[in-house]
Amino acid sequence: MFAPLIEESLSFLNLKKLVIDSGLCSLCGSCGLICEKIDYKDLPSLKKDISCVVSNGAKTCGTLGCCFDNCPMTSFSKKEYEIAFFGEESSDPDLGFFKKIVSARSTNNEILSRAQNGGTITSLLTYTLSGYLTDPKYTGAIVTRKGEAWNPIPFFASKPEELLLSTGSIYSRLPLSQQIRTLLREKHNLIFVGTGCQTTGVRKYQYNFLNKVPPERAHLFLIGVFCYENFPYPQFKDTIQEKSKVLIDRINKMDINKGKLVITIEDGTVLQYPIKEFNHIVPEACKFCTNFTAEFADISVGSVGADDNWNSLIIRSKEGLELVERAEDDGIIETTTKVSLESIRKNVARKMLLNEKIVTKRREKDFYVPNYY
Ligand SMILES: Cc1cc2nc3c(=O)[nH]c(=O)nc-3n(C[C@H](O)[C@H](O)[C@H](O)COP(=O)(O)OP(=O)(O)OC[C@H]3O[C@@H](n4cnc5c(N)ncnc54)[C@H](O)[C@@H]3O)c2cc1C
Ligand code: SF4
Ligand code: SF4
Ligand code: SF4
Repeated sequence: MFAPLIEESLSFLNLKKLVIDSGLCSLCGSCGLICEKIDYKDLPSLKKDISCVVSNGAKTCGTLGCCFDNCPMTSFSKKEYEIAFFGEESSDPDLGFFKKIVSARSTNNEILSRAQNGGTITSLLTYTLSGYLTDPKYTGAIVTRKGEAWNPIPFFASKPEELLLSTGSIYSRLPLSQQIRTLLREKHNLIFVGTGCQTTGVRKYQYNFLNKVPPERAHLFLIGVFCYENFPYPQFKDTIQEKSKVLIDRINKMDINKGKLVITIEDGTVLQYPIKEFNHIVPEACKFCTNFTAEFADISVGSVGADDNWNSLIIRSKEGLELVERAEDDGIIETTTKVSLESIRKNVARKMLLNEKIVTKRREKDFYVPNYY
């Protein structure tokens, strides 16, 4: 008898069995944020020839494993997180905890011309990296930029001008949260821009694993993007190319707005497709997810609820409010109170309905259903 070369403890196997293999993985990268043994291709897996024996693994691996605990698709107490990060529980089940909701846009024409909507995210990032702010002094931002053929790739920007490379939305998922693992150790004060699942995974990491680290050594400011759904890159690319008969490289901009995917080709042609034509490639994770507004971010930013070329901003934390107020005072962004909360709530309600259907199906199949209480 030979011993197996790769020994897997029950720990990663639980994450694999309950979340990944059952379709709940959103490829957010939060399991790789906690453990260097995890790698990503289409989905998370253990690195080649690496064993997941708990004693060799992350220091505090328990029966289920830190990777399981750090996944946004496993149970946690929303109330405890709200109290830990915002000081209070939310009384708004649709939007989560917030201090203020405004509409905003950049005052910088170059950012406005490249941004997805109002350029508020890029302007706030530029502001924080430009040396105006010293307490805390941010050393960089973890963002997503367009790689070859619209492949989303992680990007670490440490200078304001580098942020022009990460404007615009890419509607494909990537394991971005794992970037924090090595960068935070070196850089100490970072801004992270991500979807609801990514920012929740980062909060889990802060709540469970960074709680004893002094804040000056591990400070994270989170900007969340509203997110109704996000696609696996290969399928998204193939579906777009099949429909448009255009190579994806030739597309300059994509936008999902009012139920349509609108693509602008380099020669200026605009093509539109009902987003429901992409339903077959929406991952079960996104159908299950109800976190449309990235409920645990310091600030959440979207287009729904705002006028064209403006953003809706849900400002949740004290630090988030201070940043927005200072950026407005310094003329970096402008804000108004004109936001349609009803439009934002409608998206949340649609996600809640979809979630109910998925939960029923998963229960019938005896699949894992996390509990957010
Ligand atoms: C996958 C996805 C789905 C979205 N769905 C909705 C929606 O249904 N309704 C809605 O109102 N808004 C949605 N948004 C948000 C919206 O598209 C804009 O990101 C938001 O309004 C901010 O606009 P902006 O002009 O300030 O962004 P910009 O200043 O242009 O900055 C864009 C930021 O988005 C980040 N980003 C780009 N692609 C990704 C990605 N794949 N994953 C994580 N971060 C990324 C970049 O890091 C960059 O910092 C979605 C965004 C994404 C990425
Ligand atoms: S976190 Fe623990 S259980 Fe998960 S892969 Fe790493 S060592 Fe294994
Ligand atoms: S942490 Fe993220 S990438 Fe890892 S299994 Fe969970 S959803 Fe998937
Ligand atoms: S819909 Fe939810 S699970 Fe899917 S990418 Fe967006 S935040 Fe993540």
